[in-house]
Amino acid sequence: MNIAIDGPAGAGKSTIAKLAASALGSVYVDTGAMYRTLALFVLEKGIDPSDEKGVLDVIGGADITLSYVDGVQHISLNGRDVTGEIRTAEVTRTSSMIAAYAGVRSYLVAMQQKIAARMPVVMDGRDICSVVLPDAEVKIYLTASARKRAERRLLQNEEMQKANGGPALTPEERETELGRIEQEIRDRDYRDMHREASPLVQAPDAVVVDSSDMTIDEVVSAILEIAEKAAK
Ligand code: C5P
Repeated sequence: MNIAIDGPAGAGKSTIAKLAASALGSVYVDTGAMYRTLALFVLEKGIDPSDEKGVLDVIGGADITLSYVDGVQHISLNGRDVTGEIRTAEVTRTSSMIAAYAGVRSYLVAMQQKIAARMPVVMDGRDICSVVLPDAEVKIYLTASARKRAERRLLQNEEMQKANGGPALTPEERETELGRIEQEIRDRDYRDMHREASPLVQAPDAVVVDSSDMTIDEVVSAILEIAEKAAK
């Protein structure tokens, strides 16, 4: 059984998809990581991401491979593990720019379809229900309010800062940071939903799960229940 999960940035797709995949014994495929890896390649080549032709001219030189270490997806670019490097703010911004190009999408969609044909997957992204796996047995649209998504991202950042021994934010700094993250999320949503090539849409046959007021466990249980029903 293949499970397709779409939704806006920061809705918790990767956390949920990872847990659901391990509960079902399937492989979690994070398609966002593929767009990010191509973005890193474009940046390293010194190509302006807004130059569509320049981007399309070079992407053939990016050999992207996925591997799994203890159930965790690792992604390599021309043999180099870039799993950590693709999480910077610059790569994030660039990935949503180049994801708007039809040539970039068809290149990655073909890779994603090949993976899902080989093994049962829980795959997350923006166009998985609508384009990549239109025949998936289970389709989920996972969303949450922009404010909630920003709050979760800020908490993650604060935890990381604390772990690195950094200073805690003052309440005023926190409020400013929250506003900035929320705006960033809204900008990315806008780009993802308004591009011409495979915009983020709620597929008509996808089950909508709004995680704004749900815990991670509740969301995973809801998805496993949907999968169980589909298997009957
Ligand atoms: O999911 P993640 O935030 O890592 O994705 C990075 C960017 O890649 C998104 O903002 C989106 O523009 C793009 N993306 C996409 N289609 C997918 C997965 C990601 O357009 N299936």
